[in-house]
Amino acid sequence: MIYDAAIIGAGLSGLSAARQLAAQGLDVVIVEKSLGTGGRAATRRLELPEGGHVSVDHGAQFFTARDPLFRQQVAGWLDRGVCFEWSSGFHTWDGASLLSPDDRWKEPRFACHSGMSALGRDLAEGLQIIRGFRVVSVDRNGEEWVLHPMGENSMESIRARTIFCSAPVPQSLELTGRYISEDQRRLLGLLSYGPCLAVMALYKDKKHHPSWKGVQVRNPGSSLSWMAWDSTRRDREHLADAAVFHSSVDFASRSGLDSADGKQLAASEMLRDAARIGGEWIEHPSQTSVHFWRYAIPLGEGVERGFLRSEENPELYFIGDGLQGGRIEGAWLSGFKATQDYLLS
Ligand SMILES: Cc1cc2nc3c(=O)[nH]c(=O)nc-3n(C[C@H](O)[C@H](O)[C@H](O)COP(=O)(O)OP(=O)(O)OC[C@H]3O[C@@H](n4cnc5c(N)ncnc54)[C@H](O)[C@@H]3O)c2cc1C
Repeated sequence: MIYDAAIIGAGLSGLSAARQLAAQGLDVVIVEKSLGTGGRAATRRLELPEGGHVSVDHGAQFFTARDPLFRQQVAGWLDRGVCFEWSSGFHTWDGASLLSPDDRWKEPRFACHSGMSALGRDLAEGLQIIRGFRVVSVDRNGEEWVLHPMGENSMESIRARTIFCSAPVPQSLELTGRYISEDQRRLLGLLSYGPCLAVMALYKDKKHHPSWKGVQVRNPGSSLSWMAWDSTRRDREHLADAAVFHSSVDFASRSGLDSADGKQLAASEMLRDAARIGGEWIEHPSQTSVHFWRYAIPLGEGVERGFLRSEENPELYFIGDGLQGGRIEGAWLSGFKATQDYLLS
């Protein structure tokens, strides 16, 4: 079978693109290397030694809805209880004191009671998604694209007339960079991402009630960029309270984070810095888990249209947060805008 369109990646940009195409009656398939959906809008289930679990958001923490198109999408999610308004602003740590949310930056910040992965699950509803399909190479064969999976024996290659690559741009370039012009390659080559180390911490004693939901850490030199009291996003009692700490890009860029020991050492340093901000108890969680995001946050503004269409092979699109200025909103919009372009052409 030849699909009208194949999408590499079931993150929010890929899912948003697939939804628009499927709504027009096109044959669309998404291939996703992991077993889940939602990409970096991710929730981890931490199993407790005594049984039970706690869910923690270790990727995206919240999202805004500034663009009118995305606001419509969010209105639907709010109606159906997929997300809720978690906060209108966050505390700030300036290196010396914890400042209350500033009214100048007040705007709705949304999260999901069951975890941010709810967004991907919702968008994935009814779509054809092949999970565990890591694209390792892409060929152009006449009028069609062929996507080859890792471990050729277990899965068949996918054939499609148009493809949308939604992996972080450096990874998409490895797969399809040779099908765009030199100028476009140079443009995409400028898009870079910062890494992030995420530390999830559980507190079983459940006796701490911080005044903050989230803290933006603004002092240069701190290991941290963000901390959140994850439990304030849940709508039911968990067996333990949970917090999540995100490193700064500089801290996550240092060497040594590729080993488990290196990550644990870095996590201890982050918890020490967090304790200085939120209280000594933060440094003594009952359980921790660590995740390293190599391509966490785009560092630039993206490209003019929020997606890129190959000049040499117009049936090839690059989409994702990196092309549209980052964030969940940017990812969703990038997928949406690219498919509008495709449907109009
Ligand atoms: C630590 C962290 C904190 C963040 N905080 C926020 C926040 O508070 N607010 C906010 O709005 N945004 C935040 N973000 C950013 C937000 O998560 C992203 O902007 C958004 O989720 C990106 O969606 P995407 O579809 O562009 O990419 P992704 O979510 O990365 O999706 C790409 C998908 O492609 C798949 N893939 C990659 N390569 C292949 C391959 N070869 N074959 C098959 N599949 C492949 C991946 O598995 C993934 O599912 C944060 C991100 C991180 C990591």
